[in-house]
Amino acid sequence: MMTCYPIYMETETRTSSAMHAPGAILLISCYELGHRPAGVTRPLRALETAGFAPDAIDIAVEPLDAEKVGRAQFIGISVPMHTALRLGVYLLPRIREINPSVSICMYGLYATLNADYLLSHGVDFCIANTASTVLVELVQSLTKGEPLRKQDIGFHTVKLPPLEVYAQFEDNGETRTVGYTETTHGCKHLCTHCPIPPVYNGKFFVVQPDTVLAEIQEQVAQGATHITFGDPDFLNGPMHGLRILREMHAAYPNLTFDFTTKIEHILKHRKHFPEFAQLGCRFIISAVESLSATVLTILEKHHTRADVETAIDIVHSGGIALRPTWVPFTPWTTLDNYLEIFQFVDTHRLVYHVDPVQYAVRLLIPPGSYLLNRPETKALSLTLDEAAFSYTWTHPDARMDELYKTINALVENDARAGVDTLETFYRIWSLAADMQGSRHTPLGFRSKEGHLPAPRITEAWFC
Ligand code: SF4
Repeated sequence: MMTCYPIYMETETRTSSAMHAPGAILLISCYELGHRPAGVTRPLRALETAGFAPDAIDIAVEPLDAEKVGRAQFIGISVPMHTALRLGVYLLPRIREINPSVSICMYGLYATLNADYLLSHGVDFCIANTASTVLVELVQSLTKGEPLRKQDIGFHTVKLPPLEVYAQFEDNGETRTVGYTETTHGCKHLCTHCPIPPVYNGKFFVVQPDTVLAEIQEQVAQGATHITFGDPDFLNGPMHGLRILREMHAAYPNLTFDFTTKIEHILKHRKHFPEFAQLGCRFIISAVESLSATVLTILEKHHTRADVETAIDIVHSGGIALRPTWVPFTPWTTLDNYLEIFQFVDTHRLVYHVDPVQYAVRLLIPPGSYLLNRPETKALSLTLDEAAFSYTWTHPDARMDELYKTINALVENDARAGVDTLETFYRIWSLAADMQGSRHTPLGFRSKEGHLPAPRITEAWFC
């Protein structure tokens, strides 16, 4: 559902020519997992098509340009994830200081979930998801006039930083420049911990293949040799995705790619995996989250530990790497459950398939989360920390909160010091095992060669 919350309209009349001037509309991306921000590239295109001449800043890779902020009449801040929202809110006072009268709109998943707070803290408009169409309509309504036709204005080339400054693909010495696109929005599943269901309510929408292929073509022309499909779940519409992959491969046979899909879909669509490999798929990300039946039930993931093992076999036998992601700290995850993840990763030789930050992920419960409807969550005493955009919770076993803090610091320090993933993995495992006693002391301590090599994108953060 696209929602637009106008709470503030300028008293001064904005003329078409003012809002259509180059740079009068400024889009700011805060953070999109290290790739070029689709939350800005698509709205930029939609605004240009509607006759505007927007500009852009990606503060993940460049400074906030005061000149661009100063000449803007309307600023759209893309907040598709929690980290982006926190950065976006951090920017607000600076933007107001430079340009007190500018209209500010936040758009994206987390703008919707936190609209009440944002609208009472200096944001003028909140729009759901990437909402290019709604964004264009909003800007048009602010012009109080008909949009100019394309030929009436001088288009300027919008410059986002080159692809090379974003995260790269890496595999055993091979590096590739990464482009980014999405073939769908939303998701047809309702996993309770996910921020997508409260906004999309079990629906997903396809992006026209021509649009996706044009985005790929544009990024290949700029040097991309690998494409990340950032759909929440690429296999919500498997034939739609396959059609795009086949056309992409026909045009660019050497282009490789990755996508994200749930364990359930890997099992259901197993017959397509040999073709995915043949079309250039190098790895797949799947949100395993936990191996505990209790936790998986509460998160409504609809998979089991045995399903995860089957999925690994399906993906790996096609010559593709499966990179599982985890939410190892939840109010229901025991120390035994936590240790089980390490045993599992070690047994399946997956140490290099998991970024260490994954072992320090703590469940985030944003406003509107479907988790709030679960009886297990209702039994917890949760408090909404509006300024942190999430409910706070503590673990019934105080050791787990202590472990989380220790591991969070360890992961951060090791990442900063460039410690090898294998060493960090065993250090975390040993720490957790020490807390448990000797029952789960890691025995394997495989050498680097004992684990499977894994292609990855050089951006470990996730949320
Ligand atoms: S976790 Fe994945 S499958 Fe589940 S609702 Fe979110 S995007 Fe969909």
